[in-house]
Amino acid sequence: MNVENKHLKLAKYSIGIGDRFAHQAKAQLQACVQALQNGVQVIPVWNKSNREHTIIGSEPLSVRRAADAAVQALHWEEPYFCDADHITLQTVDRFLDSCDFYTIDVADSIGTPATAADMESFVRRHPELLGRVQLEGVDEHFEVTREHLTRTAEKFLVAVKKAGEVYRKIENAKGAGNFIPEISMDETDRTQSTMELLIILAAIADEGIPVQTIAPKFSGRFNKGVDYVGDVAQFEPELALDVAAITYAVRQYGLPENLKLSVHSGSDKFSIYPAIHATIKRFNAGVHLKTAGTTWLEELIGLAEAGGDGLARAKEIYSEAFAGRDELCRPYATVIDVEPAKLPPPDEVRGWSSEQYTSALRHVSGTAAYNSSFRQLLHVGFKVAARMGRRYLDLLELNEAVIAKNVTENLYDRHIGPVFLGRAGTVRNSTGRNA
Ligand SMILES: [Zn+2]
Repeated sequence: MNVENKHLKLAKYSIGIGDRFAHQAKAQLQACVQALQNGVQVIPVWNKSNREHTIIGSEPLSVRRAADAAVQALHWEEPYFCDADHITLQTVDRFLDSCDFYTIDVADSIGTPATAADMESFVRRHPELLGRVQLEGVDEHFEVTREHLTRTAEKFLVAVKKAGEVYRKIENAKGAGNFIPEISMDETDRTQSTMELLIILAAIADEGIPVQTIAPKFSGRFNKGVDYVGDVAQFEPELALDVAAITYAVRQYGLPENLKLSVHSGSDKFSIYPAIHATIKRFNAGVHLKTAGTTWLEELIGLAEAGGDGLARAKEIYSEAFAGRDELCRPYATVIDVEPAKLPPPDEVRGWSSEQYTSALRHVSGTAAYNSSFRQLLHVGFKVAARMGRRYLDLLELNEAVIAKNVTENLYDRHIGPVFLGRAGTVRNSTGRNA
C-alpha cells in the first residue's frame, strides 16, 4: 500500500464536540470561530462513540458530512477532525473511512494480569523508573521500588498491548501519520496516579504508538453533563503532576512532542476549569477538552425555550426518559449519579412553563431550580429522541435559531472561555440572559 503521510498533528488547544443528531455542527464551530476572533486557536474535533452511534442508529459518515458542511459554511480554514470515540478492536472497522482521530479505549483490559515474562522484560527495559524519579517543574519526586514497578506493569501492560493491536489495525488501513491516536483509560472506577501514568506512557512508547493525547482517570467524579465531584483544591496539584509526567515521557521515550492530556466527560466541570487553565499556562502545555452530550441538552433547552410544540416535545422526552430510566442509565453507570428521589414526577413536569423546564435543566449550580438528577437523566435520554426520529428532528430544524444560540453560548461562554481564554465563566440566570 502506498499512502501519502499527512503528518497530522493535533494543535495545543482542542475541544471535542459531540453532536448526537448531527444538526449543531455549525453552531458548535461558531464557538471556535469566536475563540479565533479573540486570538486563541481552539481546534474542533467532532467525536461520537460507537455506543452513541448504536443508540441513535447513525453511521460515522454522518459526523464527517456534518463537520465538512459546517466548515464550508463558516469558511473555517484551521484544521478539524472527526474522532472515533472509545473504539476497540471489535468496533473500529466502520470508522476507518470517515475518521482521522481515534480514541482507543482499553479501560476494560486494565487489571488483566500480564505474564511474568512481560513484566520482567518491562522492568529490565526501564531502570530509569526505579528509585528516585524527579519530574521537571514540580517539587515532588517519587520513590519507586521494584515491587511497585512490577505490580503496576502487571496491571497495565495487557491494556497497553491491546491499544497497540488497535493502533496497528488503524495504521494498516490508513497509513501512519494520517490520523491522531488517543488512548483512553478513563471509564474505570480506579483513579490512576501520576506514577501509573508515567509507567503507562513508558509502555505505550515500547509498544510503538505515537500517541498524541491520553485520557487517564483523574481523581474525583467526572459525571456526564454536571460539575466535578471531588476535591477541587487537590485537583490542581494532581493535574500539574500529570502534565509534568507527560513532559518527562516525551523527553525520555521520544513520544510525540505535542502529546497532551485529554479530559473526558469534560463538559460542565466549571469548578475545575480555573485549575486547568492555570496549569496549561504554568507549563505551557496543551489540553484536549472532550465534551459530548452538553450540546444535546442545549437542543432540549432551546426547544423548551421556544415554547409550543418544542416545549411539549421536551416534556414528552422527559416523561419517556423517566419511564425508561433504568435501561437508559445502565450503560453509563460509572459516569452518572442520578438520585431517583430527586427526579420530578412527569405529571408535575407536564405543567411546567418554558422557564421552569429550562431552569431545572440549564446548568447553573447554586440556583434553587437547577436539578442535576433531572439533567443527568436527560443527558442519557437521547435514545428517547432518537426513537422519535423525524418528530424530533423536524422540531430541531424549525427552531434552529434559538437552539443554535444556546449551543454556541454554552460552548463559548462556559467552556472555551474559562478553559482556554482564562475568562471567568459567564453566569447565566434562569432566563438564559447573562447575569
Ligand atoms: Zn471518555
